[in-house]
Amino acid sequence: MRTARVVVKRAAAGPLSRGHPWVWREAIVQSDARETAQEVAIQAEDGTVLGHGLFDPGSPIAVRVWGEGRIDEALFLQRLVRAMRRRERLFPDGETTAYRLVHGEGDRMPGVVIDRYGPVAVVRPDGMAADALVTRHGEALAAELSGAGVRSVVLRRPKAGTRGFETVALHGEPAPETLVVREHGVPFVVDLARGQKTGAFLDQRENRRRVGGLSAGKRVLNLFSYAGGFSLWAAVGGAKDVTSVDVAAGAHATAEASFRAAGQAGVKHELVTADAFAFLEGARRRGATWDVVISDPPSFAPSERALPRALASYRALHKACAAVIAPGGTLCASSCSSHVDAVAFTSTLDDQALARADLSLLELFGAPADHPTVAAWPEGRYLKFAILG
Ligand code: SAH
Repeated sequence: MRTARVVVKRAAAGPLSRGHPWVWREAIVQSDARETAQEVAIQAEDGTVLGHGLFDPGSPIAVRVWGEGRIDEALFLQRLVRAMRRRERLFPDGETTAYRLVHGEGDRMPGVVIDRYGPVAVVRPDGMAADALVTRHGEALAAELSGAGVRSVVLRRPKAGTRGFETVALHGEPAPETLVVREHGVPFVVDLARGQKTGAFLDQRENRRRVGGLSAGKRVLNLFSYAGGFSLWAAVGGAKDVTSVDVAAGAHATAEASFRAAGQAGVKHELVTADAFAFLEGARRRGATWDVVISDPPSFAPSERALPRALASYRALHKACAAVIAPGGTLCASSCSSHVDAVAFTSTLDDQALARADLSLLELFGAPADHPTVAAWPEGRYLKFAILG
């Protein structure tokens, strides 16, 4: 395929030179790119070449930047191997078998997300260009992964015309519907067939472990609990009792299976299928309280425009959480909205938002090192996890 040319506005040239990996459609002055995953040379208006990327005609992110040279199979494999080496250094002891193997832009493989669950790799392309690229280099990808012990490679992509996903076998053995993996030695069940995202939210791994460290002898409430990752770590950490709240009843079944797999079935664990806001309102009315409250909702801000409303929702949620935290208790509040940066997020946890002045911000965390970002790309640092006590 011919290399096309995309000329960008002056304002976009600076961030691109510093390593920002995206060209927004509205930043393009002139372009002869047409096809999905077509290679393009990105130029400033004075003709300076700013990098090479792949074109996506259907996305507001028109080009994702790969670097300076040709984007061929050799480059794809070179980046893949570098990402895999990074994980070998991060998880040398085999105690963590579920992690993000390739984190798109942060591993300089824009749009290519691969999560590893033991012998299964789930590829989740972000955008049509990444989808086409992964399909183009599927054989080479599978060969490299199989050398590292991956026996099944599956591709998960949005299902056209629905809000759901479809899973396609790319290579190797058929993937099981569920499997048991470990985080820092703690086993948990992943529902590959019915789960959200690629099966689990791997970006909260270190924060789950932190919750374990806060939970000894405590009563713990886990809101938006999904498959009960935080609940399980609370139990392993010695919680007196744990309550998990999520609207998705199916996720609770996975949580129960994980408690059994981890030998925690004896811990008092209540699974509530409910809207978290309604649950908190009911708890406040009853005067119920917990020592540790965890809140990890889905993104409230799908776009920049939705930001004011999202911040209002976080403030309301955090106020409702604070109302059920016992004196001396702990609030763990998280946000995965990339449009809400750390400063905006902490503003939803101030004394006025919480309607109490005894909770101080102790620590603020993000995603762990298997979710690297590029310094010039703040959008990549989407995860915030605040601990107040
Ligand atoms: N904390 C989880 C990930 C949470 S993802 C982990 O560590 O794995 C967000 C979850 O919120 C999803 O499981 C979704 O089903 C749930 N959810 C979305 N809206 C909700 C609502 N209004 N009330 C309760 N749960 C909700």
